Amino acid sequence: MPCDDRKEFFMTDATHARPPLPPSQHEWALFLDFDGTLTALVDHPDNVSVDQPLRDLLLQLSDSLDGALAIVSGRSISDLDRHLAPLKLACAGQHGAERRDALGRYQNAMDSGPLESVRKRLHEFADAHHGLMVEDKGASLAVHYRGAPELADTVVRHSQSMVDELGSDFELHQGKCVVEIKSSRCHKGLSVEAFMHTTPFSGRQPIFMGDDATDENGFASAQALGGFGIKVGEGETRADYRLAGTEQVRQWLEECLASLRHY
Ligand SMILES: [Mg+2]
Repeated sequence: MPCDDRKEFFMTDATHARPPLPPSQHEWALFLDFDGTLTALVDHPDNVSVDQPLRDLLLQLSDSLDGALAIVSGRSISDLDRHLAPLKLACAGQHGAERRDALGRYQNAMDSGPLESVRKRLHEFADAHHGLMVEDKGASLAVHYRGAPELADTVVRHSQSMVDELGSDFELHQGKCVVEIKSSRCHKGLSVEAFMHTTPFSGRQPIFMGDDATDENGFASAQALGGFGIKVGEGETRADYRLAGTEQVRQWLEECLASLRHY
């Protein structure tokens, strides 16, 4: 199965409209996915590239929104910090299993204990197949198969059998050339809701931007709280607007910054 063909069929057709620009400095809270949204997708998660202009842009946007900007990612917060250093933004990592608010307060809802029973076997499975790579984030385990897309069905079957073994506290998420065993009690939408109860996010309109199936929960929460979603790239979605790719995201964020500075 080609890498990017998986879709969530419950979703509706999305508009292709370009998102608007912020109406004022105090209206929006921005929630941004990382991989495939701010940065181009790469073969190995460590190979992601964050250039200085992107760091500058994120810092200036966050300042212009009084800090109401958060990265919401499947990566761990320590991994996000490593790639964005020296920038330290508000973040939700591992699909919301951990969170750091705009004041730097850290919360961890992770329980990595149950994964111990499958962690070693998943590594052994990946080691036995050329092109597979396990990303061990602590509270979740991802298998990347961009290096062996022909193994997609095998990876999904094997990972699903482990999820079945772990029980209902865990679920399998299928992304772009990655499957992930993650807590079923955390998702990006819950992270948005948690941020929106804290300063400086509360009272603003949440805008969620992402490219993958896990971002659909983020879109839904943003919409439920009076905001909207922006889908990056192709694929069916419940988001309200769409940008074609990471270059268009960068351009739109730059336009947002310019308009925020104008107020
Ligand atoms: Mg993504």
